[in-house]
Amino acid sequence: MKLRSLVLFAASLAVGVTSLAAHAADPYPSKPITMIVPFTAGGPTDTVARTVGAAMSKSLGQQIIIENVGGAGGTIGVARAIAAPADGHTILLMHIGISTAPALYRTLKYDATKDLEPIGLVTEVPMTLISKKDIPANNFSEFLAYVKANKAKISYANAGIGSASHLCGMMFMSAIETDVLTVPYKGTAPAMTDLLGGQVDFMCDQSTNTTSQIKGEKVKAFGVTSKTRVASLPNIPTLDESGLKGFNVGVWHGVWAPKATPKAITDKLNRALQDALKDDNVKARFAELGTAPEPVTRQTPDMLRTHLVAEIAKWGPIIKKAGVYAD
Ligand code: ASP
Repeated sequence: MKLRSLVLFAASLAVGVTSLAAHAADPYPSKPITMIVPFTAGGPTDTVARTVGAAMSKSLGQQIIIENVGGAGGTIGVARAIAAPADGHTILLMHIGISTAPALYRTLKYDATKDLEPIGLVTEVPMTLISKKDIPANNFSEFLAYVKANKAKISYANAGIGSASHLCGMMFMSAIETDVLTVPYKGTAPAMTDLLGGQVDFMCDQSTNTTSQIKGEKVKAFGVTSKTRVASLPNIPTLDESGLKGFNVGVWHGVWAPKATPKAITDKLNRALQDALKDDNVKARFAELGTAPEPVTRQTPDMLRTHLVAEIAKWGPIIKKAGVYAD
């Protein structure tokens, strides 16, 4: 071999060794990733997870498999994610309920601010106050009058204590100073089935679950819980404009990994999340469902960390005042 060829051969060997070393140091993800969703399949949290998970898997080069672990308002799924190996192959997508659970569950076995590594905020979804179709009310004031007149015989559905639908229902009941029977489910997909079947009378749920039923006139909608109207549902007034002044609940969603997941992995997950939230298909799907990706500056681990602490501080006193809890 001539000297020049020998040098080139040695150089290519060196490159090979370096890239092998890089690969060995950074094999993540080496297998499909499980994304835990703490509610049933086919509901709004699941819809957000499947939309974002599919896009994240493109950047990560591995499939993201959704595992629905419903029950106890999402606390069972969160606990499952916390107990998973901290290798980035199990992650969690959960919503605002992670910040209301500490005040609602007096015996909660985890501290989400310490036992999870934040990856980033995803989206803030408005909620909608909806009823079964044959309720004799066609606007918010008629609905209010109907609920008050029939409080002893009607019921509303939620996804268990600590779910977003529970929080919204609790705030609605306290705003109208009325109490009706609540029926808990493991997610609002089965609750929607029962609402469509007339077994329950109303529910307050994310637009990601209710938009197609509202547009298809399968349910009646009386209000949205955001400060301003929702672009994809322009005819539905906000609860604030209907007289429930200051009513404002947005179901923010975040992605987390178990505590002590290495930073190289959480960084990679955050890059994949940010890529997903830039994806045109994700943006279009979110818009159809009445939502949008969080602004880029909020898609970071630090933002999610700070947001979770602030939200726990915000909801704690409100829930304590309402006197609602589970053991
Ligand atoms: N919408 C549900 C909630 O109330 C959860 C779900 O089924 O996604 O938290």
